[in-house]
Amino acid sequence: MDRRRILLIIFDGLGDRPITELGHKTPLEAAPKPNLDWFAANGTNGLLDPIAPGVTAGSDTSHLALFGYDPVETYTGRGPFEAAGVGLALQKGDIAFRCNFASVDENLVLTDRRAGRIKEGTAELARALDGMRLGRVRVLFREGTEHRAVLVLRGKGLSADVSDTDPHEEGQKIPDAKPTNGKGKNTAKALNAFTRRAYEILKDHPVNKARTEKGLPPANMVVCRGGGVAPDLEPVTERYGLKAAGIAGVALIKGMFRSAGMDVIEVKGATGGLDTDMVAKAEAALMALTTYDLVVVNVKAADLCGHDGHASEKIKVIERMDQMMGHLKAHLPQDVVVAITADHSTPCGLKDHSGDPVPLTVFGNDVRVDEVPHFDERSVARGSLGRLRGRDLMPVLLSQANRTEKFGA
Ligand code: ZN
Ligand code: ZN
Repeated sequence: MDRRRILLIIFDGLGDRPITELGHKTPLEAAPKPNLDWFAANGTNGLLDPIAPGVTAGSDTSHLALFGYDPVETYTGRGPFEAAGVGLALQKGDIAFRCNFASVDENLVLTDRRAGRIKEGTAELARALDGMRLGRVRVLFREGTEHRAVLVLRGKGLSADVSDTDPHEEGQKIPDAKPTNGKGKNTAKALNAFTRRAYEILKDHPVNKARTEKGLPPANMVVCRGGGVAPDLEPVTERYGLKAAGIAGVALIKGMFRSAGMDVIEVKGATGGLDTDMVAKAEAALMALTTYDLVVVNVKAADLCGHDGHASEKIKVIERMDQMMGHLKAHLPQDVVVAITADHSTPCGLKDHSGDPVPLTVFGNDVRVDEVPHFDERSVARGSLGRLRGRDLMPVLLSQANRTEKFGA
């Protein structure tokens, strides 16, 4: 059978709502985007509810659904994906937390929750904490981007049922972690021991001495939040028999890829920020399609504009996304099924995610092309895919790629 490869492009936070200043258009409707429109006009289209109608999705839960998992069943918190994103291979029973390097005074009162958005020296600070032993619990610790970091507690009898040690507000004392039920006792004890030891190690660390001399806030504390146990996900390689790889700038999404059994392809210039090199991502995707059956690309920039409430920036980002699609269009092999969608809407007027569905276009050699001329929220609503849920996407793509098994005789 003519088995095809699949390219899934996820524009993070792309969906939006009509904006008065744009003449009641969404940024997608207002932006010139001939290449995205070309894919829509030559494809089959619809609206996608990442989780379910009206449910506001996080990037993590939505990516789980887009990869075909039931997010309600499999999601165990963001910490484990952040850990996988910075390259920590989690084992069963590990508890992972998202952390910040932070500044505290001698009474452990928070003075800067991001340690002056520290950019340099965090790798050295992380190395000083990594490998710490807390009784029978082992610490794995890695730096993330800027002030962000990941803590993993490894040992027997741990659970994620503990409160955060991140007070979230400056002027507050670092709180003790408390078990949220009977199971969290050992973890709370280990986490509190980690907090005290981290302060002892970090307060006199050369990196912090140098910072203090320069008048910068020292990164002398680690605050932790969002603890979660490693999720139990059947790798997509087994689930669908696909060799899969992902391309993304941000650690969380790389962690989603790794957790789902996909390889992560690092692309120079893919930053996860507004300055990300989208054409480099497209190049890398085309290259990856020579060896992988499924390639997923996440572009984060539109989500950032949504959170900032910058509609004009979002339009500019869409124009750059369109250039990326132009590059793909020009170099796309015949036997590739392309899906273009988003993981959720991030309306500029809301500055946060919303439960609005997102556009979906599926393009391929012999798709049943519908009458939709444009890739935007309102146009695709008239498409022949109708309204799907995130979890429906993989089956639709596998079918279009001639990779499904017959159900029945
Ligand atoms: Zn997202
Ligand atoms: Zn977001």
